[in-house]
Amino acid sequence: MNLKYQLIGSFFNQRTKNECHKVLIANNTYYKNLSEVNKKTFQIRTLVFLWTTNFSSERGFLLTNKMKIIVSSAFVQITFGLKMNTLKKFNAIFIAPRSYSYKNNKALFNGDVNLYTKKVNLSWPAVAHGFEVSDDAMNLTIHEFGHCLIFENASNTYFSKVFEDKEFENWKKQAAIKFQKIKLKQNKVLRSYAGTNLIELFSVALETFFEQPDFFEQHEPALYNSMTKLLKQDPRHKLNPIEK
Ligand SMILES: [Zn+2]
Repeated sequence: MNLKYQLIGSFFNQRTKNECHKVLIANNTYYKNLSEVNKKTFQIRTLVFLWTTNFSSERGFLLTNKMKIIVSSAFVQITFGLKMNTLKKFNAIFIAPRSYSYKNNKALFNGDVNLYTKKVNLSWPAVAHGFEVSDDAMNLTIHEFGHCLIFENASNTYFSKVFEDKEFENWKKQAAIKFQKIKLKQNKVLRSYAGTNLIELFSVALETFFEQPDFFEQHEPALYNSMTKLLKQDPRHKLNPIEK
């Protein structure tokens, strides 16, 4: 483990780390497959995210540490190859006990990133389902955090960008090609919702990247490779996705 995480890890007691490990091993397949060293780093990054993020829920709904660990783990999974440990703008997460709607709009949501309140909203049953089924290319939490990364990347200054400009430009180029294929119904890999716009395409691609990496790489190698460079990891290498 690198020195930075060894040092940060020393601030968390063993009981906290053990609890985190127990929840992760039972709920997060990506974590379960990691090497022991990577597991330790992952635990610490999960705890850092958890403790620096403002979690809330509605009255009468018991928001447990287990729920917070599971939600946090999606962020750590996406950013495991990056130097980013927390969200700066969207560091408030609201966990709803069920699907929800907004005033004047009957549509039910399972999750959204609200640009006005700067909150990430997630319905707990949908979060749980996303982790229970880890190979259907659908994970709500990964999807919504994908939006957060795009928004934070766009608003950060050059030196605090989430992604390297060069890699992000390359991803956009590949994504635009894929977008056309979706429009022409020549798409095998991503679900059709990716055809909404490039922001949705990114999040849908992220879900597929983590849950069906081999299938993704076989059918869309250029887009897949652009994502490994952007996120500095390859989920096909389960023990060590971040090996150089
Ligand atoms: Zn979305």
